[in-house]
Amino acid sequence: MTISYSPGPVDLPETVQQRCDLAEIDFEGTGMRASAIPHRHKKVEEVLAKTRALFREALDIPKTHTVLLLEGGATTHFTTLPQQVWTRDIGRKPHIGYVDGGYWSGKALAAGRKLSPICRESPLASSRAQKYTTIPSIRAAYDDAANSGIDFFFFNANETTNGTQVSDDEMAAFGGDWPYPIADMTSELLSRPINVSAFGAIIASAQKNFGKQGLTAIIIREDLIAPCPHYLPPTCDYALSHGKLGGPLNTFNVPTLFSIYAMLEWIRDMGGVVEMERRSRIRAPLLYDAIDRSDLFEGIADPAHRSLMNVTFRLKDMALYERFVQALETAHIASFNGHREHNDLYGQHFRISLYNGMPIENVQYLVDVMKEFERRS
Ligand code: PMP
Repeated sequence: MTISYSPGPVDLPETVQQRCDLAEIDFEGTGMRASAIPHRHKKVEEVLAKTRALFREALDIPKTHTVLLLEGGATTHFTTLPQQVWTRDIGRKPHIGYVDGGYWSGKALAAGRKLSPICRESPLASSRAQKYTTIPSIRAAYDDAANSGIDFFFFNANETTNGTQVSDDEMAAFGGDWPYPIADMTSELLSRPINVSAFGAIIASAQKNFGKQGLTAIIIREDLIAPCPHYLPPTCDYALSHGKLGGPLNTFNVPTLFSIYAMLEWIRDMGGVVEMERRSRIRAPLLYDAIDRSDLFEGIADPAHRSLMNVTFRLKDMALYERFVQALETAHIASFNGHREHNDLYGQHFRISLYNGMPIENVQYLVDVMKEFERRS
């Protein structure tokens, strides 16, 4: 069987996948397929309610915040969420500031720039000059934002493409009532404990650490949910989704909902986000150590900013590239390429993604293949 180290979507743990397969035959004892059951069926509503409760439990979400599960992917929501929150009545036009820390925060910033002059044109901080091998200090950028009239502070906690991540220390040392931090946590939510109360909103699509592709979790302070601007579609209307306007709670997509439910139960049964982080702290160093000890490979991210989720590296001698790719393919290893849009920054490179569902043995297997390649080179 092929082992995929994809940045997402990814394989779920075997037991979770089996539950999803069973739900495709019989969704929660209804005798109906998960993909064919009406989304207003009471069992679906039950699973949705349990899923939201599991989220609360896993991340210790305070009463001030709510969890929405919506379609459109993280892209839809990091693009439209700032437009939603700015409609709040704060007595003047709000200002949004972005931290430019890599590929995905760059995308959010580009979307935000279209909102100029409400969005600050230049980022609050940027690691562009370092080719995004580092992440700017979130704490320093936040303090700067607070002193420069910013209302909404946007950053990405884990840059999937660059292989960098905001450290636990930085995550613990910032946040507050003003400006409101909004974070894209697509490639890290539920992989470590976080202090949800420090955030105005968190956006994360499911397909990496907590389910199959399709739904996006929006964890948002209830008092930030504002009337939706008329030009946005109802699928982006958080007030509607939250039932604030008397609308139903959205339950768009049953199959993806079930995988999130099954995955959250699995995370709970394994020991919660603390255990997910413990596993990450075994998986990622195993690979980083192999890279650091080898004469053939070199890591791309600055060691102080390395991600536990996405490991980027390359060969020191590019002449070996085709042979190494062949060695990986012969070993039935797939989805190891770096992001094609960053080959100009890093050269042809590799990216190995290590989300919650990745067994530690699979990392060891990859490390063995790399060592064997080096031995034979
Ligand atoms: N943000 C980050 C950090 C990502 O890694 C990705 C997908 N790789 C996205 C956003 C986009 O997610 P989606 O496909 O759900 O729009």
